[in-house]
Amino acid sequence: MLSIPEINELKLFLESPKNISIVCHRNPDGDAMGSSLAVQHALEQLGHTITCITPNEHPNFLAWLPKADAAIAFERESEKAIPILENSDLIFTLDFNALHRTGEIMQKTLEQLTVPMIMIDHHQLPDPYAKYTFSDVNYGSTCEMVYDFINALGYNHLINKDVATCIYTGILTDTGGFRFPKTTPETHRCVAELIERGVNNSEIYNLLYDNSSYNRLQLLGRALQNLKILPEYNASYIALSQEDLDTFHYEKGDTEGIVNYGLTIKGVHVTAIFIENKEEGIVKISFRSQGDFDVNQFARTHFNGGGHINAAGGKSFSSLQETINQFIAILAQENN
Ligand code: 5GP
Ligand code: MN
Repeated sequence: MLSIPEINELKLFLESPKNISIVCHRNPDGDAMGSSLAVQHALEQLGHTITCITPNEHPNFLAWLPKADAAIAFERESEKAIPILENSDLIFTLDFNALHRTGEIMQKTLEQLTVPMIMIDHHQLPDPYAKYTFSDVNYGSTCEMVYDFINALGYNHLINKDVATCIYTGILTDTGGFRFPKTTPETHRCVAELIERGVNNSEIYNLLYDNSSYNRLQLLGRALQNLKILPEYNASYIALSQEDLDTFHYEKGDTEGIVNYGLTIKGVHVTAIFIENKEEGIVKISFRSQGDFDVNQFARTHFNGGGHINAAGGKSFSSLQETINQFIAILAQENN
């Protein structure tokens, strides 16, 4: 948590109406959108003018979140977003640890600003760009940190149904449905209170996970067909080519969660999904592991990425096949 003097300073600052922007990482997930919108719904009750600015579009499966439709996608509407950022009195940067996580385009704008920032984030090795840094890898989600942050400010009464719904969404998605190891008694105590504040937990589950298009399920089928096992390294991987994506009319968010299937095989401790993106000229990669295999380190060292010990991501500028070959070669090397 922030220090007591920092909390007091922020409370004083929030006593009169301010212009506040909220920024999350590129390709926002449930935790990024949930934490951003939770802060917005909470602090708007104090009379502040608040804008959520996502680097690129949020996926459709999160569009139902309260006020998600009011968020500005920087890469689509930078003329609108830049003056809002410049005229902010404070910028929240949520669910990321380094400005480059907002993507090359938005990063440049953020780096030039003189506006004070606050970071709330649970990734390793936070960059020192923020005036206030609440960074803690022991949390399973940024949303749970936002809950503690709101309480530390003495704003528990601001946690209404909208705030609670946004926080619940990020906790649910980032803990993999309360199953990842960082799901603590505190997480469940927090969630209990969120349900008391009006969260409809079964509806949220349905909105997130029972809302697939037929094409998305067919794409999942293709992904599972493409799954390969590397028993000698206790590893598996899935590749999706641009052609696979096009065949099933890929939409943003359609590949969310597919990587986890690779870990459900007995004996597999590390897995990856390689997704070709011809438009951006990259292969986007997600890594997942169980136990000691540190995919954050793996992604940082070899694939221009990072994340957490058991869940990380990165990208490659090589072809899909070259990227896969590289992955296998690194595993071979590390197993020697
Ligand atoms: P996912 O695989 O679900 O996209 O991401 C898993 C975790 O890794 C998340 O915490 C996410 O923020 C992080 N992550 C994903 N892609 C990247 C990346 O390209 N760079 C870094 N530094 N972290 C990433
Ligand atoms: Mn997160």
